[in-house]
Amino acid sequence: MKRVLNLGTICVNSYLVEISDGWVLVDTGYPFDYPHFLRAAKKKGVELSSIRYVVLTHVHADHAGFLKRVLEDAGAKLICLPAEKERLLSGVNEKDVYLSRPILYLINRISAALSRFQSFEPVDISEAIDPETQPLRDEGITFFVLHGHTDNDLCFKVDDKLFVGDICMNGMGSVGYSPLWIEDNAALTESWKQLLAMDAEFLYVGHGKPFPKRDLAEFVKKQENRKLCKLYK
Ligand SMILES: [Zn+2]
Repeated sequence: MKRVLNLGTICVNSYLVEISDGWVLVDTGYPFDYPHFLRAAKKKGVELSSIRYVVLTHVHADHAGFLKRVLEDAGAKLICLPAEKERLLSGVNEKDVYLSRPILYLINRISAALSRFQSFEPVDISEAIDPETQPLRDEGITFFVLHGHTDNDLCFKVDDKLFVGDICMNGMGSVGYSPLWIEDNAALTESWKQLLAMDAEFLYVGHGKPFPKRDLAEFVKKQENRKLCKLYK
């Protein structure tokens, strides 16, 4: 079993997965989380230079926040989908989304106005590694792509774990494991069905604690029927 650490905050997880010559970092918090990340790395005895790869699950400010800085400081290689080029260069979250709970509407409009919650330093991915070439196959890491939270949600399997970004969430105001932001709910519920059919025990999500994959099953129907609210009407 590969060792997994979490250098994230109470809001966003930044997992480290051990590989033979260092670590793979999964997602990079909000832009202002970088000092916390550096302190957490130091506390756990993780040298920045031992981070060989950074996997970006999707382009949101709470996942790509300090991506550019950590890539430069660690000298790590980025693994992200080529399709994310435009979004990563834009430096802002896609706003054409639905919210899983109408109650979140006001909070999201306010956070959208506060750019530090929904923008990040643009990243040029011309040097990035395409996960679909399975660059970490020898380490037992298999990448796959789901859809729905964003256009492309990059996930991977290692041992009995599935790292799934924000395809589902556990906490942070989420109900029934629903992500707060959803670009395409039909695609999202289809993604959940795909996860349930996969051979793995645990879901490692971007927000909240890892949980047994089987717990998702009873919420698929609810998610399909969930009443969503458009962020910008
Ligand atoms: Zn997200």
